[in-house]
Amino acid sequence: MNKILPKTPIEEWILKRTGLSSVKQSELQAYQLKKLVEILGYTKNNSSFYQKKFINWDYHQIKCLDDFKKLPFTTADDIEKDPFSFLCIPQHQVDRIVTLNTSGTSGKSKRIFFSDADLQKTVDFFDYGMRSLTDPTDRVLVLLPGQADGSIGDLLKKALGRTKTTTIILGLMTDLDAVEHAIITNQINCIVGIPIQVLYLSRSKAKCFGQIEKVLLSTDYVPNSMVAELHKKFNCRVFNHYGMTEMGYGGGVECAALNGYHLREADLYFEIINPGTGQPVADGHDGEIVFTSFNRQAMPLIRYRTGDIGAFSTTPCSCGTLLRTLKKVEGRLKNRIKLANDRFIDLNVFEETLLGDENILDYQVTVKNDSLLSIQVSFFHADRRDEKIRQIRQKLTDILSVDGKTMKIEVEPGYVAKPDQMVNSMIKRKIIDRR
Ligand SMILES: [Zn+2]
Repeated sequence: MNKILPKTPIEEWILKRTGLSSVKQSELQAYQLKKLVEILGYTKNNSSFYQKKFINWDYHQIKCLDDFKKLPFTTADDIEKDPFSFLCIPQHQVDRIVTLNTSGTSGKSKRIFFSDADLQKTVDFFDYGMRSLTDPTDRVLVLLPGQADGSIGDLLKKALGRTKTTTIILGLMTDLDAVEHAIITNQINCIVGIPIQVLYLSRSKAKCFGQIEKVLLSTDYVPNSMVAELHKKFNCRVFNHYGMTEMGYGGGVECAALNGYHLREADLYFEIINPGTGQPVADGHDGEIVFTSFNRQAMPLIRYRTGDIGAFSTTPCSCGTLLRTLKKVEGRLKNRIKLANDRFIDLNVFEETLLGDENILDYQVTVKNDSLLSIQVSFFHADRRDEKIRQIRQKLTDILSVDGKTMKIEVEPGYVAKPDQMVNSMIKRKIIDRR
């Protein structure tokens, strides 16, 4: 007989925040529509960007979600060009500004503003989101930046403090021995961190990792091979979180079913669109994830294109909730290589192929030109390195082959910064494309 799963705590959070009596789609959508119309009025009155953008739109005319879906999108470029034009409150009321380094050539960076009320809402979501995996008897180690007030680690600590769950914030992992020491002395049984760092920790310090029962991975794509390895070797359950700074860090988290995220739908309205046409795609089909943050004070975003690829599940979650499930995010639109015949290879193919090998620490993929792909791989140790390089080259040559033709693949051992030498947790891993 199947074990009965606890229902996602996100459902309780949504009921509390919305005052609804059920999270039935029709009721939740009616609530969201009302909030979307409100935020359109708010942004049109307070943000110079949306004042201009919606000059010919009367938000009172929006009577259903299909009407809302006719509004123009907001893009990362819009924010980069002039972040202050998004600001809806006086600057002195801004509590935190996060500057995201982007790879654009403009030299401008993306700035995201939060008011104190915005940060409190994130704490509230994190509180319930963490209940998907923790209870007050757990001892949690957070390997995300947490020094600054309002940073992701600080907000997590505040959230876990509400349920009196012991939380140690170490920040990004920069010293394996210090992390090992913290796990042992604090009897840690749950880790929150970045996928590549947690994997590195589990392979380098397997002894102390053995006491970890639960892991929450956040901020980047999580390879299935990584989840399988952590589960098999340490019998720990691996939960995924989906979010980005623009959303207010948190966007959705997996329940005990571990089969996709339940979303922060009391604060965010999610859509999946065809990235080419901008039209909605049906549930079950992949598209670009778009969200509207209708409860933000400092910087609400309307129909913001995330660049992430995702799909809504067509089957109800086995935890028994009526909430929708967003299937695990499989990658980013800009993080794919275009091959012949309009075929694409996503970064996740490299993640699964390379990081599944326990001797590989990390890697970097660079497309040098249309016919040459270079992969630098850093190895734990030199044993059988040449043989492994041959295997990787062969495997990827097969995967990248289109109609018998394939790109030339160079694999070389090289220096790639070790996973404990990261400097910015919100930077997602990417393919460098020199074409
Ligand atoms: Zn569920």
